[in-house]
Amino acid sequence: MTAQEPCIVCSTPTEHKCSSCQVVHYCSRDHQKQHWKQHKYECIPARIKQDAKYGRYLEATRSIKAGDVIMKEAPLITGPSQVTPPVCLGCYQLLEEGAIVTCQKCGWPFCSEACTKNAVHTPECYYTQQRGEKVSISTYGIPHPNYQCITVLRCLYQRDHNQKLWAKLQALESHNEDRKGTEKWENDRKLVAEFIWKFFKLDGVFNEDEIMQCCGIVQINGHEVPLLEPEYVAVFDKISMVEHNCRANCNKSFTSDGNIILSAGVSITPGSHISVCYTDPLWGTEARRHHLSDSKFFECSCERCSDVTEFGTMFSAVKCKKKGCKGYLLPDTFVLPILHKTKSPDPNTRGLDNKFWKCNACKDEVSDAIIQQLLQDIGRELSAMPKGDPDACERFISHCCNYLHPSHYYMTDISLALAQMIGQQDRLGLAGITDDRLLLKTQLSRKITDLLEILAPAETRLRGSLLFELHAAIAETGRRKSLTDGPMVMLGYVTESRKILQESAELLAHEPPELPEGRLGRQAKINLLQMDELIKNLSAALPSPL
Ligand SMILES: [Zn+2]
Ligand SMILES: [Zn+2]
Ligand SMILES: [Zn+2]
Ligand SMILES: [Zn+2]
Ligand SMILES: [Zn+2]
Ligand SMILES: [Zn+2]
Repeated sequence: MTAQEPCIVCSTPTEHKCSSCQVVHYCSRDHQKQHWKQHKYECIPARIKQDAKYGRYLEATRSIKAGDVIMKEAPLITGPSQVTPPVCLGCYQLLEEGAIVTCQKCGWPFCSEACTKNAVHTPECYYTQQRGEKVSISTYGIPHPNYQCITVLRCLYQRDHNQKLWAKLQALESHNEDRKGTEKWENDRKLVAEFIWKFFKLDGVFNEDEIMQCCGIVQINGHEVPLLEPEYVAVFDKISMVEHNCRANCNKSFTSDGNIILSAGVSITPGSHISVCYTDPLWGTEARRHHLSDSKFFECSCERCSDVTEFGTMFSAVKCKKKGCKGYLLPDTFVLPILHKTKSPDPNTRGLDNKFWKCNACKDEVSDAIIQQLLQDIGRELSAMPKGDPDACERFISHCCNYLHPSHYYMTDISLALAQMIGQQDRLGLAGITDDRLLLKTQLSRKITDLLEILAPAETRLRGSLLFELHAAIAETGRRKSLTDGPMVMLGYVTESRKILQESAELLAHEPPELPEGRLGRQAKINLLQMDELIKNLSAALPSPL
């Protein structure tokens, strides 16, 4: 912890570092002051801390405003997804048979000559040459076994070629003890470790521990980067230390060149832990906790998981079926030890047997088994629903509101799909839908954005997209009203619509043009200019107040 590093200005070894980011070292106050002009652009408003409960985590060192970028980071390692059809090992684009360039040194296929020279390809190029026989890929478009180990191999390579990078990778969490014995572990042992030993002839070079450690590092810290289809994997350093929270205060997005951006979804006070959500915040508490336990090996007991009402939203609440009762059922707690399906069950942790859900009005109790059956049935109904059918969505909502709270995650799921669907299917867009549907779109979009603000305020991609839908629905409502009530009623609607659009543009500001949300963000900016023009014209046409 007290390692000496050279002062960035004069290179004198020193223990002192910038207290805000702890990244840059300074021998003296003077040199820190002198360097600030430049450092203020790279200094992040958070520092790395460590404790027994969280391991390493990030803590805000000063007030951070919603929307502020906390940090931007380039990946330590990138590579193809574990299961992938052949992709270019330089840029990760999907390869098509007949449009391929092979690396002259190793035979791996690429999209272009330039990509064969990309430095990220060095590890497998090196080991393929060592192996003494070129790679030859002949099937495209379906998952190919040769790619399963590439990202792990790229990590392993650093041990003998880049000490600093290797140390950073090794400092990341691998959860190897928890992973041992899981199906995924056995799979990795066979398809990654054995492949590295046999195909690359590296059995005397990397042992099982080293390989499995790297598998864990990639599994736990790897991000699937959605800029391309299929997605590729990137492992980041500092971002990996950001802890999970089901009501996180930050979110991650990617730049077009594959860097990651961490930005604040809400205002953050100094001393708060910086968090992101590692799972889908629109899943129910039980599903989120199981997913986190299966994939990240911890049992979440965050504020949201600990509150069965989920900040009063009743996101998991089921309707009481007692005659005449208008109450809702919830269990005492969701934070129970999780039974592992992947490992043999421990008979001592069967805590669910005598769980009951209680009504908040009549205090009636219903066994967990009955509720689970109901949820399973509704879940099955949901997955059997025809896709893209607004009528089916409406039928589901009116049927299931007899069983679920209107804000229940299943209701929210369908409401969200419906809100986005209305207007997308008609050739005329929103202008082609009925007044009823337009009203429904407006109501649903409003309801879900309000819910998101409470439940997952940092989920800015989704909220920004929905606000875009909402602004369009309100503007269309104004247009229709103006047909009967005259053009002046437009002004109120357009002004409201513009306010919502402004918020949408701000929420989507960090999204790259490769993603639909990024394109929506750009469209929002264009629409804003048009609306300003419209508001100006409408205002000018208003009769003078005299
Ligand atoms: Zn100095
Ligand atoms: Zn700093
Ligand atoms: Zn390429
Ligand atoms: Zn090569
Ligand atoms: Zn949680
Ligand atoms: Zn009741």
